[in-house]
Amino acid sequence: MSDIIQLLPDHVANQIAAGEVVQRPASVVKELLENAIDAGASSVTLLIKDAGKTLIQVIDDGIGMSPTDARLSFERHATSKIKDAQDLFNINTKGFRGEALASIAAVAHVEQKTKLTNEQLGTHIKIEGSKITTQEVVSTPKGTSVSVKNLFFNIPARRNFLKSDAIETRHIIDEFQRVALAHPSISFLLHHNGNEVYHLKESNLRKRIVAIFGSKMNEKLVPINEQTDLISVQGFVAKPEFAKKKRGEQFFFVNDRFIKSSYLNHAVVNAFEGLLDKGAHPSYFLYLKVPTSSIDINIHPTKTEIKFENEKDIYAILRATVKHSLGQYNVAPVLDFNRDSTLDTPYKFNTKTTASSPKITVDPNFNPFKSDNSEREIHFPYKRNSNRWDSSEIHIENTESEKQETLFNHEEASETGKTFQIQKKYLLSSIKSGMVLINQNLAHQRILYEQFLESITVNEAMSQQLLFPVHISFSKSDIEMIEAMRADLENTGFLFESISDEAVVVKGIPTSITESKIALILEELLNDMKIEVPESSYSHFDVMAKSFAKSLAIKNGTALNSKEQENLVHDLFSCKEPSTSPSGKATFKTLTIKEIDAIFNSH
Ligand code: ADP
Ligand code: MG
Repeated sequence: MSDIIQLLPDHVANQIAAGEVVQRPASVVKELLENAIDAGASSVTLLIKDAGKTLIQVIDDGIGMSPTDARLSFERHATSKIKDAQDLFNINTKGFRGEALASIAAVAHVEQKTKLTNEQLGTHIKIEGSKITTQEVVSTPKGTSVSVKNLFFNIPARRNFLKSDAIETRHIIDEFQRVALAHPSISFLLHHNGNEVYHLKESNLRKRIVAIFGSKMNEKLVPINEQTDLISVQGFVAKPEFAKKKRGEQFFFVNDRFIKSSYLNHAVVNAFEGLLDKGAHPSYFLYLKVPTSSIDINIHPTKTEIKFENEKDIYAILRATVKHSLGQYNVAPVLDFNRDSTLDTPYKFNTKTTASSPKITVDPNFNPFKSDNSEREIHFPYKRNSNRWDSSEIHIENTESEKQETLFNHEEASETGKTFQIQKKYLLSSIKSGMVLINQNLAHQRILYEQFLESITVNEAMSQQLLFPVHISFSKSDIEMIEAMRADLENTGFLFESISDEAVVVKGIPTSITESKIALILEELLNDMKIEVPESSYSHFDVMAKSFAKSLAIKNGTALNSKEQENLVHDLFSCKEPSTSPSGKATFKTLTIKEIDAIFNSH
């Protein structure tokens, strides 16, 4: 048999390499920004159109390239950053693999203009699918401008795989933030569809964090500073009371490179031990400096995972350092922040519940929850629609005096509908065939989810005008996302007076939520959108409805009076799909008489 192995042509090899390096517009952003940093730029501009699907352009004022280098820069394994294998153990640049530009040029229309500082004229190159179509002399400012158009034009499967603009924009902003946080002394500009998203001036670390995440961040930061022979750690952690429900603002930089490390994350979270609510994630911005020879960056094509030689020691140092700083802040709250009284009470006590199981007695009318004055009471001031059981109207009061009459249209509650609440978490109700056990939180999520989905998709959500518009501040990136979701949010009944750089002003809200919940709902939605990655506009609505339902559903641990219990049961079984929560968990379990009988007859 004849030989069958061939060397792949360059453009095919490049396209394969691109599969690893260029996953989405944000990957291109990362590579181009890093090249600008490596070129010694002091000012970097990123221009985006349509979430990077139409255009990604990075302009820097760095060293630029000679005409030959400009052409070579698109060759695979062509780099100015390392010369031999030994250099791999002393990397001080972001790039070194020499494949980013080759990969990008294999899957997009790329145009580069570049000029060395002391030259009169520069070079203009156009390259499409690895083929250079133009190279000419051009008059251009010093530095380099690379624009990438029509990403994945030659790989339809990839292009179709791209997510909604909101999601792709989010990824781009993530990459932008990571690079901008790593280099506070460089100024950055980000424009999306002609709008300025960030204009970050040359500054210090603290100011850069605040410029990115909003002025509220300033008071949250606790400084970290430690030097050892092995490592230096600098940066900030956010005070524990500002921990987030979802992982978000967690940044490690090693030698100015953003990295992901669940191991080091563990060290930091561990240092917060006892200070965080369950399920809360601390925010942090930690800058580690280690000798270049003690790390291996080359274990992952995108270089976001690295290997440390002294991983265990670094873990221990990191944990101790963060713990120490938190302790200092707690004991001696001086200098650049004010004492926050919430820290005076350990978190554990804030959330402590006094759950006492009801005793079973022979009195069939005895409701163990009714007489329990020590529990917080829940009042439904008014119910608009018998079919809409609405937790946003729950007011938790501490004093009996503030009790209000509850009004329900739901009249038919009768003997058969008797329900009991167990551990403020489950409802037990007798049904014809036996009994049903319901998880109150999951059941309510289902009810609200169907309501929201209906109002969003049917497009006739009711909105209530707020007497006084509510201002809520967000980071710029979150504002971008809200802007991208604006139309959908308005479908649900939200009305915005304005959406500006750092804040949204809400003037109308869906009738099913209350004013006090606006911030919570929007924050949760942003978190969920970051995680869920909707693909169609329908799934967009779906994520939204799920998110709203989750934010608003009555929590486990909430006592419900018997009317409230009955309504919950009734509304659950009026749902289209009562048996599962929006996230697919079972909302209830039935036990038939037969099954109950079997329990007692089995012995
Ligand atoms: P790497 O960054 O790993 O070296 P790239 O494909 O990203 O590989 O870039 C190839 C080479 O092109 C770089 O090593 C650098 O010499 C040059 N280059 C790329 N972008 C720029 C830029 N913005 N300014 C100056 N030189 C650049
Ligand atoms: Mg590079």
